[in-house]
Amino acid sequence: MHHTSQINLSKSALQKNYNFLRNTIQPEVKISSVVKGNAYGHGIEEFIPLAESCGFNHFSVFSADEANRVKMASTKNSPVMIMGDINPGDLEWVIDNDVDFFVFEIERVEQAAEISKRIKKKARIHIEFETGFNRTGFNSKELVPLVKLLQDNRDHISVEGVCTHFAGAESVANHVRVQKQMKTFNKLYKWLLGQGIEPKMRHTACSAAAMVYPKARMDMVRVGILQFGFWPSKEVFIDYLSKVKNHKDKVDPLKRVVSWSSRVMSVKNVKTGEFIGYGTSFLAQQNMKVAAVPVGYAHGYSRVLSNQGRALVGGRRVGVVGTVNMNMLMLDITDVPDVSVGDDVVLIGGEDGLEISVASFGELSNQLNYELLTRLPMNIPRYLVD
Ligand SMILES: *Cc1c(COP(=O)(O)O)cnc(C)c1O
Repeated sequence: MHHTSQINLSKSALQKNYNFLRNTIQPEVKISSVVKGNAYGHGIEEFIPLAESCGFNHFSVFSADEANRVKMASTKNSPVMIMGDINPGDLEWVIDNDVDFFVFEIERVEQAAEISKRIKKKARIHIEFETGFNRTGFNSKELVPLVKLLQDNRDHISVEGVCTHFAGAESVANHVRVQKQMKTFNKLYKWLLGQGIEPKMRHTACSAAAMVYPKARMDMVRVGILQFGFWPSKEVFIDYLSKVKNHKDKVDPLKRVVSWSSRVMSVKNVKTGEFIGYGTSFLAQQNMKVAAVPVGYAHGYSRVLSNQGRALVGGRRVGVVGTVNMNMLMLDITDVPDVSVGDDVVLIGGEDGLEISVASFGELSNQLNYELLTRLPMNIPRYLVD
């Protein structure tokens, strides 16, 4: 059965983004591809083999269930790291499958030591430091009993890394806080070394930090949004441009990997003075032609885009009129000649000259990039294209 829309993933776009990242970040620094949130909505099952074919060879996820999906999808047995949740019942699977994981509570480390002893397999942990984000992580006081536990369990627990996460590296407003976090990180790291615990690597940077704060790259960067062709914020893009030396290179090096399209389901004419759709949010100020498209908030097209969203029809940029419904939205196609039922509608993507970028909705909020992508439902079919 056909879905009402489809998602395409572009291999050449991802390859370009990978090349850009690999050329920007010095070769000693590992790149972990962050694929939480169903690979930012791109689809873990389709994205992982594609990413591996482009050169990515390490993946980070939020939870154990995502780690399992990555392992199943992987064709190259790439290492996987869990940055967040593990249901205690899944910890044995995690350890047994050599999946790396963040630790930020002593209980998880105790459980890991126990399991590791029992199944005779080392747990591969990354100690998360509390550096000022105040979400998860060990502070200097809490590290003391952790170190004792690690010293007692040297045969069972391998400290693969130490890490932290910045509280908004994509905005210059957080510059001071981020700098302070880096200082705290380095202090805790030195202290840990002094205790005889030697982590194999240090990693702190998300996309924004990897671009804006080269010092934060350390031994590995955890890159999410950038690999998919989106800048974490306009500020990060501008910062990048300002650092490019050659004038003719001052262009966006990233390519969007995802595009999302549907088709025109119905076309109708609306007379001046009529309201369109539910309620009174859109009043036709002229005789109009509108197209109904079978995509709504149930399909991940946010209701926030009522009277705001943009799409491409017949090679032209058109606007959403009225409220986004559960399964439908309406587009103003008054100025597009010869639109018929079945014509393509591009919701995200399109040609370079004329493109609906997720960010073009994003004037409303930086975070909308992330949110709109990750809300793309799992059941919309994904196709690989060149
Ligand atoms: C999501 C996440 C990242 C990646 O963030 P981007 O801004 O998408 O690059 C890195 N580290 C952690 C801990 C994360 O949760």
